[in-house]
Amino acid sequence: MASEVKMRVLVTGGSGLVGKAIEYVVHQEAGKLEGEEWIFLSSKDADLVDVVQTRAVFEKYRPTHVIHLAAKVGGLYLHMMENLQFLRDNIRINDNVLQTAHEMGVTKVVSCLSSCIFPDKTTYPIDETMIHNGPPHDSNFGYSHAKRMIDVQNRAYFKQYGHHYTAIIPTNVFGPHDNFSMENGHVLSALINKTYTAKKEGTPVKVCGSGAPRRQFIYALDLGRLILWVLREYKEIDPIILTVGEEEEVSIKEAMHMVAKALDFTGEVLFDTTKSDGQMKKTASNVKLRRYLPDFTFTPLEEAIKTTCDWFVANYDIARK
Ligand code: NAP
Ligand code: GDP
Repeated sequence: MASEVKMRVLVTGGSGLVGKAIEYVVHQEAGKLEGEEWIFLSSKDADLVDVVQTRAVFEKYRPTHVIHLAAKVGGLYLHMMENLQFLRDNIRINDNVLQTAHEMGVTKVVSCLSSCIFPDKTTYPIDETMIHNGPPHDSNFGYSHAKRMIDVQNRAYFKQYGHHYTAIIPTNVFGPHDNFSMENGHVLSALINKTYTAKKEGTPVKVCGSGAPRRQFIYALDLGRLILWVLREYKEIDPIILTVGEEEEVSIKEAMHMVAKALDFTGEVLFDTTKSDGQMKKTASNVKLRRYLPDFTFTPLEEAIKTTCDWFVANYDIARK
């Protein structure tokens, strides 16, 4: 007789930055418990914009639990060009995944929001209760509205069916397997690639904007560890912010210095103020997380940037860029 599977976890977006980090925690850090099965999906397994493909992949794996990461994702400058596509793709992906999970009796879904969906005009720090308090920043309003609807939908599934579908809110994530595109990537990965290239070619690094905006960065492996905790232990429908403390927030200029140090770059750094700064800050509170996990240790930012730079250099040929 086949042994009973305790938990069959389907990770959508399993081939991306956060998905790869969870895979590492599951397989390399003994995150997987006995009897569990973990399936990591990429868009090659199913295009989740398409409901037929979504149902087919859920039929194939019959998950009991879902970590839903798949999304159209990009840095500030891609958002500014493609707000409509970010809105439409993400609305469809999220509805397809959540509704199919419901139809197939999935016990728990953990979906991924982002701190860039918070209101633009707000007081700081922002916390979990403030998501819907006003319009998001104009630069990424498409993505933000699609993501906000996950929270609305989770509460509706709970009200109507008692389902335990919840969401996490990470701040800016970075790490190995990120998209290091200089044009479309997020800030740290783009700056790592720009700095590596500038060093090779003996040219200056061009940072977009003034360098003054501030960001709270979370290392993907720390996030992966926290997501496993959410999957196993977190019982609320209300979302939870997963990030470092407010005091760990740094300016883009400081982050650039850390990248330069990690890559041993001593050339010129230019700030292109013709490019948008985007949101000046979106400082998020991790008080709720700290109430649950007062002792969780985050990897120091400089150390995590160094590890990411080393990974990028060692994997330059296969890295997304
Ligand atoms: P990523 O590296 O770009 O990965 C995106 C993942 O989604 C990939 O596995 C990709 O598959 C999959 N995907 C995209 N479109 C798909 C589609 N139509 N059908 C099926 N799969 C699709 O992004 P990430 O940074 O890991 O993001 C993961 C989650 O974290 C997202 O929900 C994102 O909104 C959230 N988040 C990210 C950040 C950040 O700074 N990166 C911050 C806050 C929240 P392929 O690789 O096969 O294309
Ligand atoms: P955001 O945090 O959602 O705004 O997304 P990003 O990760 O794209 O970070 C954008 C911030 O980094 C803005 O303040 C940009 O001006 C700044 N920045 C500086 N250089 C770059 C770059 O090369 N790429 C990106 N994406 N942002 C950059």
